[in-house]
Amino acid sequence: MHTQSGVMINPWSSAQYFDYEKLIKEFGIQRPDNYFDYFMFRRHLIFGQRGIDYLEYSIKNKIKFNAMTGLMPSGKMHLGNKLTIDQIIYFQSLGADVYIAVADLESYATRGISFDKARNIAINEYIANYISMGLKPCRIYFQSENYDTQSLSFVLSNETNMSELKSIYGLTDSSSILHVNAPIIQAADVLHTQLGHLGGPRATIVPVGIDQDPHIRLMRDIAKRLRVYNVKIEDNKISIYIKGSDDPADKINSAISVLGNSGYECMPNYEYRAIYVKNSTGEDKIKIDMMLAIEESRINDYAFIEPSATFQKLETGLKGGKMSSSVPDSLISLNDTGEEATRKIKHAVTGGKQTIEEQKKYGGNPDICPVFELYKYHNSNDKYVTRVYEECKGGVRMCGPCKIEAAENISGMLKTLAEKKDESLGKLDDYLIKRSS
Ligand code: SF4
Repeated sequence: MHTQSGVMINPWSSAQYFDYEKLIKEFGIQRPDNYFDYFMFRRHLIFGQRGIDYLEYSIKNKIKFNAMTGLMPSGKMHLGNKLTIDQIIYFQSLGADVYIAVADLESYATRGISFDKARNIAINEYIANYISMGLKPCRIYFQSENYDTQSLSFVLSNETNMSELKSIYGLTDSSSILHVNAPIIQAADVLHTQLGHLGGPRATIVPVGIDQDPHIRLMRDIAKRLRVYNVKIEDNKISIYIKGSDDPADKINSAISVLGNSGYECMPNYEYRAIYVKNSTGEDKIKIDMMLAIEESRINDYAFIEPSATFQKLETGLKGGKMSSSVPDSLISLNDTGEEATRKIKHAVTGGKQTIEEQKKYGGNPDICPVFELYKYHNSNDKYVTRVYEECKGGVRMCGPCKIEAAENISGMLKTLAEKKDESLGKLDDYLIKRSS
């Protein structure tokens, strides 16, 4: 997927995308509104979203919703990965049913990691930390053991084709079929949470980095293609189109009955397979779409509501640039000791001036400082983080003591996680779902 300026967003590339404004403009990503009072929204660490209004509608109307994420069982969980789980825990506190996919099929295919090893890594490096961070019981599953996602990915693969995947992902004739399968399996991971036996159609939020946007767009499109009722805004009124070539009368009549019960006046057009909702405005779209998805789920096993996404900024590595396991000192693993974390922070690049005199005179630049990001991304106390920012800018704060303070904060957090680890491992049965068959 290319921007007008030729940049390509590709989930398999290691490039970083720092020009978030440009991405918003060129990819039609929307900014979040002020609905969510959470530090990642307040500080614009979540800089964009797609379809989050479904989530807001569900929360306002006390309708159950899902939050979904996945983990690749390789390497170590680090502070950058933690941000996604922070969000998942936040959405869970708002009432979300949480699902987490362990991508052991992908780690086997791409990195040759056996399923046993993947399980071990997933539990010890990731899931134990999720629980220690405050994740409440939820549904964590291994892709290799989940019949729902495997069979759904087979169904979803019929909703896309090679030319679409080539244009989204830049695939070529020599691309591995794995690059064809992987986005479909991810779509199945997200959409299966809306299958009838798991609660049916619901708003589903997926917190991701911008590099995952191609997957998000594809799964949203696929969800739409599977729907029988296609709800559109036309001239600020709602029109509904019924997919298929059968006699649409029953589907039209049942939709009119559902909408009538909520006070909507509908005008059917059987020839055009359409319903026009007379007393509606564009603002009714979410309500009507969600009502019709539930009605549709009586006749369509795959009546999914398009998933929503939040896009979070990527935390900068301690050496500048990306956090990468190939540069071990660029990141802090959640299983690092306080001493290891402190050593890495002491050697981090900063936005400070060359000399203390200059720093006092001109102030530092926290906006480009990875050490400041440790405060900004991992401390929810706005007053404290603002004070650090202002002291740095005002030349009151020097980089040496600032690093030590950041290291103390992060080490304290790591110590708490380490202390809780055994207790968290003892709770796994409340989280891991058994192999489905
Ligand atoms: S004082 Fe702290 S926030 Fe400011 S540039 Fe130095 S390390 Fe970064």
